[in-house]
Amino acid sequence: MGPKDRQPDKLIRLSKSCIGNAEKQAVLGVLDREYLGMGAEVQEFEQALTEFFGRPAICVANGTAAVHLAVQACGIGAGDDVLVPSLTYVASFQAIAATGARPVACDIDAATCVLDWRDAEKRLTEHTRAVMPVHYGGSVGDLDGIYAFANRHGLRVIEEAPHALGTTHHGKRVGAFGDVACFSFDGIKNITSGEGGCVVTDDPAVAFRIQNARLLGVENDTDKRFAGERSWQFDVTAQGWRYHMSNIMAAIGLEQLKRFPELAATRQRLARLYDELLRGHPRIRPLARNYGDVVPHIYVVRIDGLADRSRLQARLLEHGIQTGAHYQPNHVLSLFRDSRALPLPITDAVFPELLTLPLHPDLSEQDVEFVCQCLQARLND
Ligand SMILES: *Cc1c(COP(=O)(O)O)cnc(C)c1O
Repeated sequence: MGPKDRQPDKLIRLSKSCIGNAEKQAVLGVLDREYLGMGAEVQEFEQALTEFFGRPAICVANGTAAVHLAVQACGIGAGDDVLVPSLTYVASFQAIAATGARPVACDIDAATCVLDWRDAEKRLTEHTRAVMPVHYGGSVGDLDGIYAFANRHGLRVIEEAPHALGTTHHGKRVGAFGDVACFSFDGIKNITSGEGGCVVTDDPAVAFRIQNARLLGVENDTDKRFAGERSWQFDVTAQGWRYHMSNIMAAIGLEQLKRFPELAATRQRLARLYDELLRGHPRIRPLARNYGDVVPHIYVVRIDGLADRSRLQARLLEHGIQTGAHYQPNHVLSLFRDSRALPLPITDAVFPELLTLPLHPDLSEQDVEFVCQCLQARLND
């Protein structure tokens, strides 16, 4: 099928929620029971996630809240520095800054687009307390190198893992090992709960602080909420937020988690097909990933010498193909610009050439073939 043989009205979306009847019924069940806050469904979702990871998972309102709470629970705040790649969603930077800490923009490895710890090492100060690798496109990059670097310098590792739900490293799921990992279940992630997220850690002190801080710092409220009650007498010893998850969200998440093997396999199959169809192209270079291990949230290519990405995106949209640019680096944003910082040459060179192609479980193999044909054709316009 060539670009001309296609219905012009069909939009191939960059990403989307993939919701079945089970999710709809689960939401209706919560509405029927008329307990919408944090209760039995959240407890059940937390237990299912804890089994999935083999480690305690704490559900929260969204992925940004997960990162904010994780940084706070590690005791990091005003006066502290956190090393984080500039090439991430602004959520990472805002979540760090929300604690009072300073996000320090780091460069990436050009092949994987994941944090380059050798660059991060140059940005260490006496204030550095943590490193936050972002598992861009589902890949963990040189995560062993990042942990070794963190251990050498006594840093916490807070993995920003919203792209990497289900990705394995040395045969273990991200979150099943390491220090602290944060996930998002927003509408378009590998599974969704509508809005939602979780923190996974086997550090009991961090887990305990997050459980309290998600409910305004009210101590030991979680068990009461799970039983459909609440605390009337309590103490608060730390800053907290309204960051808990609701039963409506958890009910969606539970059904999505059951479908995870199928959703993950579809994402991996489509990403492999993209790799295969684009391999050998003189300018289009898929990011280096092994889809035996990586469960991709987004599929990104680098296009050598791409001078005008917006124009290419507009051309592809003429064929009904939505594309993206993940992510505008944070070091160019007014709030996070730091004129004294070392430059970020790899990020500056790589980002303008990145293009995110459509990827979600409702995409067909024909859609992927069509996207690749159009991309190759329009690149030369
Ligand atoms: C989705 C995402 C977040 C934020 O998660 P929300 O649930 O949308 O708050 C943070 N960082 C990255 C890299 C993400 O992809």
